[in-house]
Amino acid sequence: MDSYNQLIEEITANVQHINSEAGLFQLKAEYLGKQGKVTALSAQLKSASVEEKKRIGQELNALKEIVTKLFNDKLQAITIEQANAQIAQTQYDTSLRAEWNKRSRLQGGYHPLTLIKREMEDLFHSMGFAILDGPFIEDEFHNFTALNIPQAHPARDMQDTFWFADKVHCLRTHASPIEIRAMQELTPPFKFIAPAKVFRNEEIDASHEAAFHQIEGMVIDKNIGVQHMVYFLEKLVQEILGHHTKTRLRSGFFPFVEPGFELDVTCHLCEGAGCSFCKGSGWIEFCGCGLTHPNVLIAGGLDPNEWSGFAFGLGWDRFAMIRYGIEDIRHLQSADLRFSQQFRSY
Ligand SMILES: [Zn+2]
Repeated sequence: MDSYNQLIEEITANVQHINSEAGLFQLKAEYLGKQGKVTALSAQLKSASVEEKKRIGQELNALKEIVTKLFNDKLQAITIEQANAQIAQTQYDTSLRAEWNKRSRLQGGYHPLTLIKREMEDLFHSMGFAILDGPFIEDEFHNFTALNIPQAHPARDMQDTFWFADKVHCLRTHASPIEIRAMQELTPPFKFIAPAKVFRNEEIDASHEAAFHQIEGMVIDKNIGVQHMVYFLEKLVQEILGHHTKTRLRSGFFPFVEPGFELDVTCHLCEGAGCSFCKGSGWIEFCGCGLTHPNVLIAGGLDPNEWSGFAFGLGWDRFAMIRYGIEDIRHLQSADLRFSQQFRSY
């Protein structure tokens, strides 16, 4: 045991004088390496009796543990010392201008869909609307039946649907099921918008994606008429597309509204004169809208004699394309950094 303690004292003294990692590793090899002094002590085991072997083995292990800790502690101390020295040597010039051009190459930006969503949420929030969402996976009732689209209704064929194997659940084909969920859960009067990702089993081209986005809106109150809807949508269009933007209503068919309309806005590129974007008409489709069908109110648990409402749904991707002049909807989900980097805020 005395020789062990001597060895520990010797190593402690030697380690103190080391001040580099390389020096420390060399010293460690002298004691713990294959030919090292500590390793050599194992030779005692060969000639020892079984009793002694057990005792010597335990003592040897304890010694190795102490010596290893000595080296590890020193290594940690050297590492910290080196880092501190490096920090002390580094000089910062706080008067230097930030290198924006170099840095901005590495910096991300918000996706145009996120920019539109935030803008819409801010606007609607300021008008007292709630912001809602619903599940991606819907059942037949919420996606179709409750929205006045019974089985075998031709409107079901208008929306190519991703059905699950049970033929009851599907990926929501539009944002309108959120209307039903809202009516079932909220106490009228209420108003909300719901920015939502929706899915259609469609062929993909420059203006069609299998997954795209809609913003649904609904107002439920007493004695709501078309005039309320028109006033509201005109204000909305002017707020988000500019006060010079004109609107027009065309009749349109959506099973969940009666009467139903398509709202057009003057083309932002030619301001109504006609160009290739608006196919010469001067108008572009902005959203579908209408007064909520009594069957839909009933499906949502509301009495159509007491409550009425209007709803609108606009293509969120299409709105982003109009706003930012994006010519192909597939860019929006391309995950191509060259595309998204164009929308940095500086
Ligand atoms: Zn135009």
